[in-house]
Amino acid sequence: MTEPTIRQPKQVHELAGMLVAPRPGATSTFEEYAAARATFLEINDDARWNPWVHEDRASEERSATAVMEQWTRAETGFRQLTDPEVQEMLDEVGRRSNAEFAADAARQKRDKERYNAEREQARLSLLEQESILSRQREEMVELRAGRYPAWSEEHRAAKIAEIEHATNARETQIATLAAIVGDREDIVDKYGRLPRDRRKASLLRYRLDREHKVRELRARIPELKTVAAESKDRTERSKLLGELQTAESSLETLLAVPPLTEDDMCSECAQPASHHGWVSPPYDGPCPAWPGWAERLRRAREILYAAAERTKAEEAGPPKPHPIAVLPSGLPIADVITKLSELQKAHPKAIVKRGRANKWEIWHADA
Ligand SMILES: [Zn+2]
Repeated sequence: MTEPTIRQPKQVHELAGMLVAPRPGATSTFEEYAAARATFLEINDDARWNPWVHEDRASEERSATAVMEQWTRAETGFRQLTDPEVQEMLDEVGRRSNAEFAADAARQKRDKERYNAEREQARLSLLEQESILSRQREEMVELRAGRYPAWSEEHRAAKIAEIEHATNARETQIATLAAIVGDREDIVDKYGRLPRDRRKASLLRYRLDREHKVRELRARIPELKTVAAESKDRTERSKLLGELQTAESSLETLLAVPPLTEDDMCSECAQPASHHGWVSPPYDGPCPAWPGWAERLRRAREILYAAAERTKAEEAGPPKPHPIAVLPSGLPIADVITKLSELQKAHPKAIVKRGRANKWEIWHADA
């Protein structure tokens, strides 16, 4: 059968506001074309946030493309854009984005002049106080609904009253901060950047970081599975399986994050704002830029640093004395006597002291 040279009207179909018709020699039906186009769009849509989908669904994407190439647009006078026309469109997009960038840079240079450290701090405190307030309100709802069933009614009532008092005080504090802050979206940092400028940067950083971590975990998980399966050493195997479990759960958490927009981001760090909170899970933690939390982190770091310094000093100092031998508690008397007689022969001047956990320690007399 020869292909018709004149397109029959029945071969023209309408799909999503377009008219389409099979090219000469096409072997696919319109339904197959529609399904292929839907698959192609779905993969490309998903891949904007999860680029590895192109690899995972590569053969589906190839088949869909092959079917789509058998079809063409059928509107009268329709023609594909020529290469120079496509180039001109891309150039126009580039020109527009450069102009936007220049306008943002000029605005930030101007806005740097009105930087106000007090307002900036007040805004951060306000965000922190609001987050604490919402946690306290949740806590009150939980307590009223009977959380901690072992509590007596008096204790519950006292706790609820205590939180209620704290939330009232916090509401007053929030009102004061809100008056200092004014429009919280209009407060610039010392570089003149508005919160929305920083959210844009946060989203880019978060997105790249997520992609990097997912790709790393996708490579690491099969590796760990193989090494764990081949390992003959039980301790090593259980360590590898633990690592595998952690890697799998991290991957699951990252993949579950839906596509985010700039508005979803924290303006102060590369995390979605909804990940900030005081109970983990579901939250990852408070924002490190919130002043109260930043102060607690600073103090914690100081304590850890001091402890590390102490350990270092101890390690560098003279070695701690050790007993000659330690006899655990609960040994049969016969064993204790045998052991003690052996030790007495070897160290006639040794003395016995009671150690931790009812152990007996044998020390040099001058230790
Ligand atoms: Zn943050």
